[in-house]
Order: sequence, then structure tokens, then C-alpha cells
Amino acid sequence: MKVLVQKFGGSSVADLECMKKVRAKVLDAVAQGYKVVVVLSARAGQTNKLVEMAYQWSDEPNPAEYDALLATGEQESIALFSMLLNDAGVKARSMVGYQVPVLTDNSYGSARIISIEAGHFLSELERFDVVVMAGFQGYSMENRITTLGRGGSDTSAVAIAAALSAEIGTVDCHIYTDVDGVYTTDPRMVPKATKIPKISYDEMLEMASMGAKVLQIRSVEFAKKYKVPVWVRSTFTNDEGTLVTQEDESMMESVMVSGVAFDKDQVRITILGVPDQPGVSAALFAPLADHEILVDMIVQKASREGITDMTYTVSHKDLKRALVYTEKVAEEIGAQGIEYDDQVAKVSVIGVGMRNHSGVAAIAFSALHKANINILMISTSEIKISCLIHANELEKAVRTLHTTFGLDGE
Ligand code: ASP
Ligand code: MG
Repeated sequence: MKVLVQKFGGSSVADLECMKKVRAKVLDAVAQGYKVVVVLSARAGQTNKLVEMAYQWSDEPNPAEYDALLATGEQESIALFSMLLNDAGVKARSMVGYQVPVLTDNSYGSARIISIEAGHFLSELERFDVVVMAGFQGYSMENRITTLGRGGSDTSAVAIAAALSAEIGTVDCHIYTDVDGVYTTDPRMVPKATKIPKISYDEMLEMASMGAKVLQIRSVEFAKKYKVPVWVRSTFTNDEGTLVTQEDESMMESVMVSGVAFDKDQVRITILGVPDQPGVSAALFAPLADHEILVDMIVQKASREGITDMTYTVSHKDLKRALVYTEKVAEEIGAQGIEYDDQVAKVSVIGVGMRNHSGVAAIAFSALHKANINILMISTSEIKISCLIHANELEKAVRTLHTTFGLDGE
């Protein structure tokens, strides 16, 4: 059996007109002899509407019922779309999460998929040409409906492709959205950004985590783990899109840098005059971890006469809480004080090519220097160099790096 997974986001199924365009894509695949698994999001705006309703009805919505409510957005879109397919003479049926079944843990609002029963699903694919599956949802061991976090339909699509692949060999996953692929940077900031034809899972994870919001991060992690080839394509064009896949030699050799990502959601907190002794970092960061505050960059200044400064970044929403915990520890360990700066942003160059090319960091730093941009903090990994800079210089920095690494198109 030849199977293809096609996922369509909320803007692709917003109304009848859009759904008819989606139907054309599905009919195309059926004509090519595929059994098609269509994974749908809720129609554009529906999930937000349901969230709003939940908070009109309740100040603190019961988490299980909140998920049961949010999951209805997808139930609506899959039923409507299956009607359209049946009208076109295609044998199709819809399936919500627990019918598939998609078993998850019980972290309502951001549940993780534990397993998908592929055998049952395959028998449905024998009987139907198209199975239209609700994205974003599953059910828990306690037999409650769960949802996978905003943007979670991407993960549903990759997960069903992975589960089917295990039974019948590699199943490709096509993620259709309103952009035609993954770009070297955000085209709204840099009009010269170009589409990347092929990108590795690791690069995509870095791009996704830095605000290139094409795919839910979990879906990329899933794809990497189960080696699912993922295509990002536009519903509204016939473009090939971007293939997200395993890293290979050609990717490492061709370019040093594949993309420039940025993150405006950064605040820098500095603890001044910290006594430089064992246990100080642990004391500072343990309470942040305990309260699930995500710390991004960390830098400790070289110590002088047993005294040092520690700096870290968090997102704006965590600033207040981070200050509370940090002030408390700063007092306990006898630090001189703390200060923060919320006018900062992070720019990153990303590329598996860095594994093969040396000096990428030096090139980036000197380009920023020539543009007269001051670097406040630096962090690096095998395939990424990130610099914290002043927020008002972000756009200049992104353009500079994009040009420097030869990413500009027409
Ligand atoms: N409908 C859900 C949301 O808006 C899931 C998705 O679209 O992927 O987040
Ligand atoms: Mg999405």
C-alpha cells in the first residue's frame, strides 16, 4: 500500500473556498495511487475562539474540559472536509484522536504522544481512499481527551507518518501551510531571504526554536527521531517547498550558514559582584529551574579578586518571576545587586556547514563589528552562533549576517 500523509493548517481550511483548494491537492494524490491520510487543523481562528470562550465561562477552566473543548475545532474541520471528499466521489471518513487511537500522557494543554495504533488505522486505509484525521488531539490512559499544544497538528501528522512507516516502510509527510517553505530568514524583515530547498532536522530545530514558526518544534523532534521526511509546502502554489530530512555530506559541504534566525523575546538579567565560589551558579539557577523558568544564554565574567558578575537571559513573560527568585538568592550569597535590560534581542547564524568550516564565528563577529553593532553576549553550539545585541540594532544585524554569508537572493 502506497501511503502519503498530507497536513493542512488552519488558514488552508478556513472556509469552503480554501477547503476546495485542499481537496484538489488530496484528489491529486489519490489519482497518483496513494492512500491518503489527511491531517487537519481547526479552521483559522477557531481555536482562539474556543480559548476565549473557555475563559468567559470559567476563570480557571478545568484542564481536562478545556482540552475537550479545544479539540472540537478539529472535529468540525475533519467532518466538513470528509463531506467534500464524499461529494467528489472519494471514499473518505473522519477520525478524531481517540478513534485513531492516539494515546498521550495526561499533561492537558501540551500532552505528549505515547503511541499510535497503526494496525487499526491501516485497516481503515484498506476500506477508504482517504482517512481524515483530527490533528492536535489524543486521549489519555484515564480515557480523557487531550491536546498537544498550539500548532500541535504538525506533530499529529509526523506521528501518524512515523507510526505507519514502522509498518509499511517510509511514509512521507507533506505539511501544507500559507508559506511555500522554510526561508533563510524571515522574509518580512529581509525581503532578499530565499527559500531553502533542503534542510536538516537539527537546523530546522534551531530555526523553529528561534521564531521561524513554520513547524511546531515537537513535530521536528519527532521527525528526527523516526526519520520521517517532512516537506513544507504551500496550499496555494505548486511549489516543491522545503524538504526537512537527515543531514548528509552535501549539506555540510555546500554552505557554511543555512539561515539567520532571531529572537526578540529576550531580557538580560545581571547579578553584580557575586562571590566566586563553588555552588553559586547552582544556588542561582536551581530556583529558576524549579519554577520552570527557561534560561537561554548564560555568561559568567572572568573573576577578579574572588568576585564576578553573572548574566543570563529569559523571555519577557518570565522576567518578573525571575527577578523575584534571583533577588532572593543574590541577597543570600552576598552579591552586590542585580540589574536587567529588556531592550535586547538575539541573532543567530545556523548551519551544519559549521562542522566542516572553521572561522564562521570570526566572520560573523567581524561583520557585526563593521556594521558597528555591539555584541553583549555570545553562545555557540556545533551548528549555531548566537549573539545578544541591542534590540534596536536587530534588523541591521540580521541583514548584515544574511548578506555576509551569501544568503541574499534577488
Ligand atoms: N488548532 C490548533 C491551534 O491552533 C492546532 C494546530 O493548528 O496545529 O493551535
Ligand atoms: Mg501551524
